[in-house]
Amino acid sequence: MADRTILILLGPPGAGKGTQARVLADRFGLVQLSTGDLLRAAVAAGTEAGRAAKAVMEAGGLVSDEIVLAILKDRMAEPDTARGIILDGFPRTAGQAAALDVLLAQKGEAVTAAISLEVDDAAMIGRISGRFTCAGCGEGYHDEFKRPASPGVCDKCGGTHFNRRADDNAETVAQRLKAYHAQTAPLIAHYEGLGVLEPVDAMQDIDKVAAAMGAIVARVAA
Ligand code: ADP
Ligand code: ADP
Ligand code: ZN
Repeated sequence: MADRTILILLGPPGAGKGTQARVLADRFGLVQLSTGDLLRAAVAAGTEAGRAAKAVMEAGGLVSDEIVLAILKDRMAEPDTARGIILDGFPRTAGQAAALDVLLAQKGEAVTAAISLEVDDAAMIGRISGRFTCAGCGEGYHDEFKRPASPGVCDKCGGTHFNRRADDNAETVAQRLKAYHAQTAPLIAHYEGLGVLEPVDAMQDIDKVAAAMGAIVARVAA
């Protein structure tokens, strides 16, 4: 797997990481690995990791590095990731970033690019409170910024069931933004130091952000 493309998407909750990861995955044949999605699946399945993570996630805190790393490591080794992966929501702490560097180095790999989605915090509450997702295929939508073309029907799969996340409420979002600034924002300097940081203005429309990110990936991907 020496020539896998390894992309990291950095940015606060609501920045557009999940939305853009899906676009990039389709366009470049990469696999989106969202630690949030993996953790929510573990909670739903009632695994040991899921039981440990549930209350922390509901409060808007960060799940322990140990749990997150264990879940991610297994997923990164699966055969469908051979062309490359997009890490969406990972790493989120200095410990996770260091562990990822070691894990990749052991396989002769390295981070291809860390794309930093630059946004105004003040806009994130609005993005998160309007967020909903297709229950069938996971496509993300927004009450104002990305409505399905036909109301109540998913553009991608035709599904008619949608979910809103329990942690997408104003109180929890404030906690999540705090956790982002305290523990995740410092990683921007880490990736700048590694020479792989790629900042993007993520206050633009979804399509414009997608074009800017696509141009970066086209330039750096194997
Ligand atoms: P993250 O994964 O970073 O938490 P999402 O991709 O889920 O963020 O986006 C949060 C919400 O904002 C979703 O409802 C999404 O449709 C919407 N959104 C994403 N990018 C933009 C953008 N550039 N402008 C406006 N709304 C956006
Ligand atoms: P968002 O991008 O909107 O913040 P995510 O789906 O990425 O949402 O994460 C939801 C929650 O899952 C986080 O608030 C946190 O509790 C947990 N989580 C996800 N990824 C990580 C991670 N890498 N480390 C620790 N906790 C995580
Ligand atoms: Zn769908």
